[in-house]
Amino acid sequence: MRLVLVGPPGAGKGTQAQFVAAHMSVPQISTGDIFRANVSQGTPLGKQAKEYMDAGDLVPDEVTIAMVRDRLGEPDANRGFLLDGFPRTVPQAVELDDILADMGTKLDVVVELIVDDDEVVRRLSGRRTCRSCGHIWHVDFDPPSNEGVCDNCGGELFQRDDDKPATIRHRLEVYAEQTAPLVGYYGERGILVGVDATGPVDDVTERALAALRRFDHP
Ligand code: ADP
Ligand code: AMP
Repeated sequence: MRLVLVGPPGAGKGTQAQFVAAHMSVPQISTGDIFRANVSQGTPLGKQAKEYMDAGDLVPDEVTIAMVRDRLGEPDANRGFLLDGFPRTVPQAVELDDILADMGTKLDVVVELIVDDDEVVRRLSGRRTCRSCGHIWHVDFDPPSNEGVCDNCGGELFQRDDDKPATIRHRLEVYAEQTAPLVGYYGERGILVGVDATGPVDDVTERALAALRRFDHP
């Protein structure tokens, strides 16, 4: 299955992607994770992306699209994938269609995770991420047993630089202006399904999987 998760920053895309991708036996491809890995390794791509990420802006389409084209060309993406955080602009969505057409395939479904801005701010301001395994925690909603330490792997938890209040507000504006139009783009094609992303993580996963069952085909 080839699917995309869309929704504002903090909607729970990364959290749900981990469960949904495992359930569907497809790789989770998070453009944010790929950018962050490049930033921490100091690669040329990371150097290009860093200033945009720190400001809460989108990395330019040509950089992002080239990166995704490469990633989707890897063998593990052949039989399906879950994209988390891509596309984020209509031009990226158009390019994704082209990349998939070149591969002789197309998207099956786009899941929109729906939450309001107040909840997004609560979620992002308490988000903590494991430096080693990437697992996502929340200081109140999903706290690790020991503060600052990942229960899964013992790794160190950190707060993302772009999860500061002023940057969060800007990222929400960027979402409304540049990413929200994707809902119309995919809605017109009949492959969009909206999922209520409020409430406990497990409930959201259940809703997402139930919605996906309607689109799953061999
Ligand atoms: P996104 O990938 O959409 O930016 P994340 O998956 O990183 O969002 O989630 C943002 C924060 O919200 C994390 O700290 C995560 O633990 C928390 N979170 C995710 N889903 C829920 C939920 N259903 N209820 C409460 N907190 C959640
Ligand atoms: P995320 O982890 O999805 O919240 O992404 C973190 C940051 O990475 C974003 O604020 C952007 O700066 C950058 N980024 C991730 N995905 C994209 C994308 N598809 N297009 C442009 N920039 C992106």
